[in-house]
Amino acid sequence: MTGGVDRPGREGRSLRLGRLAVIGVGLIGGSLARALRAAGCVERITGIGRSAENLRTAERLGIIDDWSHDVAAVEGADTIVVAVPMGAYDQVFSALELHARSDAVITDVGSTKQHALDTAARYLTAPGRFVAGHPIAGTEDSGAAASFVGLFRGATVVLTPGAAVEQEAVRRVEAMWRVVGASPCFMDAAEHDRLMAAVSHLPHLAAFAIVNAVTAEGRAPEMLRFAAGGFRDFTRIASSSPTMWRDIALTNREALVAQIDALQAQLTGMRQAVVEGDGARLAALFQCAKRVRDDWLHRSDS
Ligand code: NAP
Repeated sequence: MTGGVDRPGREGRSLRLGRLAVIGVGLIGGSLARALRAAGCVERITGIGRSAENLRTAERLGIIDDWSHDVAAVEGADTIVVAVPMGAYDQVFSALELHARSDAVITDVGSTKQHALDTAARYLTAPGRFVAGHPIAGTEDSGAAASFVGLFRGATVVLTPGAAVEQEAVRRVEAMWRVVGASPCFMDAAEHDRLMAAVSHLPHLAAFAIVNAVTAEGRAPEMLRFAAGGFRDFTRIASSSPTMWRDIALTNREALVAQIDALQAQLTGMRQAVVEGDGARLAALFQCAKRVRDDWLHRSDS
């Protein structure tokens, strides 16, 4: 599904996003640019980022029409998508305040929403034009070359607009996600962050921790020769971008720490059952988890 130029389609002809600027043409920004172009609802796409190599790749793949290292290149854009790691938000939003047109709609795809809203409020004199969003879709790969046109088809996108948001901006961003095949829903930013700490951020931390724990003796290649499908499945997300996950952890500290505590409590309970040889307790803990996961899979398949 990756590579190649995505052909313009008809679906988005009634939606006019005008000139689009994507700051951060990686997996998410690149996939959104591809899908919006394929839907035929953008005139021209400008990519903004740091590495010329990534931006050249994006241009060669037809994801963007032109590019710049400077956020000032958003000046002509009607719609601006911020798709950089959370740690770059201060730098990007302070530049947007200087260079974005006052009638441009700004949205983002970042994984922690209170930080996005707080940063927009800190820098933008018109925060009502900013509609915060988070597509619940992705892979463990990064960069423009990893992007693909169908990433958001069937995905849920959580929108967490702030209190001062302009309804016309919300409608544009909602329509943007619908046109790429996603289903937008609305949520309070703090609630989003608590939820994501549990179902996304903690699992990533756990995957990183498991790999480190198992390989702590410095015999990683030797030990991993014996790792099979279970280890591979469980640790797939430990191949995700370390920078991105560092930033997510640091911009959702309170909720994530609560989830780390919950995991530690689980592990402590399991450790105690193992130490005491309490098979009944262990089986009950495993059975409880199996029931919840099986029910979830059953419901998401039907
Ligand atoms: P990615 O593939 O690494 O893309 C991020 C892009 O941002 C890169 O192309 C990078 O290019 C650029 N960038 C980094 N710092 C920048 C800066 N200071 N100024 C301008 N550009 C900068 O990461 P991604 O997976 O697309 O993630 C992007 C955002 O989406 C993150 O906020 C993440 O939390 C969120 N998100 C990710 C997923 C997922 O599963 N991956 C899912 C939902 C949401 P250069 O390094 O060349 O500048």
